[in-house]
Amino acid sequence: MAARIIDGKGFAEGLRQRIGAEVARLRAAGAGTPGLAVVLVGEDPASQVYVRAKHRATIEAGMASFEHRLPAETDAATLLALIERLNGDPAVDGILVQLPLPGHLDADLVINTIDPAKDVDGFHISNVGLLGTGQKSMVPCTPLGCLMMLRDHHGKLAGLNAVVVGRSNIVGKPMALLLLQRDATVTICHSKTSDLAGTCRRADIVVAAVGRPEMIRGEWIKPGATVIDVGINRILRDGRTVLVGDCDTEGCAAVAGAITPVPGGVGPMTIACLLANTLTAACRRRGLPDPEALAG
Ligand code: NDP
Repeated sequence: MAARIIDGKGFAEGLRQRIGAEVARLRAAGAGTPGLAVVLVGEDPASQVYVRAKHRATIEAGMASFEHRLPAETDAATLLALIERLNGDPAVDGILVQLPLPGHLDADLVINTIDPAKDVDGFHISNVGLLGTGQKSMVPCTPLGCLMMLRDHHGKLAGLNAVVVGRSNIVGKPMALLLLQRDATVTICHSKTSDLAGTCRRADIVVAAVGRPEMIRGEWIKPGATVIDVGINRILRDGRTVLVGDCDTEGCAAVAGAITPVPGGVGPMTIACLLANTLTAACRRRGLPDPEALAG
């Protein structure tokens, strides 16, 4: 059986168009332009690529983009003062601090200084608590994108067995909580899980967020299951650097019912969900209902 390839890129394009239309509606109604501020400290090359991509996508959606690039040696007081300023800036609906931060800065302190209502990454401790208790929150972008694709593919998730491989605060844990909220039966696996292959084999849905190239094998997948591959790993193959996920895509696709590719699966959805969260934050700050077209 050949799995259906879940087209994250296409899905993300559709979502971005809907966001653009909602932004245009807000502006036409005189509610102003939603704005996203991105803060980058230092010159990490991968972070620079991500920040550029976020800036482009924000502008394309018709939103305002504010970039703040600070030198790597920026001290905590300067960074926190900038965040406080953005918290109070009415033109800014969303604030994102690009991670990782240089080692001398306390990422938790920095993230928890962001106004939770503007925390479009959903990493502030208040948003983590709200998500954990099933209340309205800002939801981390990558798991939100995964959930949207799963709901699009399955409709309802109630009663399905879902296995999340990885327990990070930015992907694994929030992913598990979102699946639980949708009434899936959720198992979280990690590096100390004793029978990872057997646990995956019982799953209707496997979400892989491990950071280990092609670790999840086709033999671990139940026939017909859905595989969401969050992994982004650069490896050297035949003398070239290639991008691969945490799943052996070919092996898994031979058994699964549906699978996200790498690239072109979860990655594009992450940026689209950042825009979705910015729009949601903008609507909430204006006392408007959450945009229904974006519901995860
Ligand atoms: P982390 O390194 O923070 O977490 C990895 C998790 O995988 C940990 O919980 C770890 O377990 C678990 N793990 C590691 N080795 C094994 C193993 N052998 N068996 C079972 N579990 C294992 O990674 P992230 O969550 O930040 O990211 C995961 C992947 O997703 C990466 O490839 C990253 O690049 C990608 N990513 C992609 C995004 C996108 O937009 N597509 C966005 C964010 C991340 P333990 O806790 O026990 O150490």
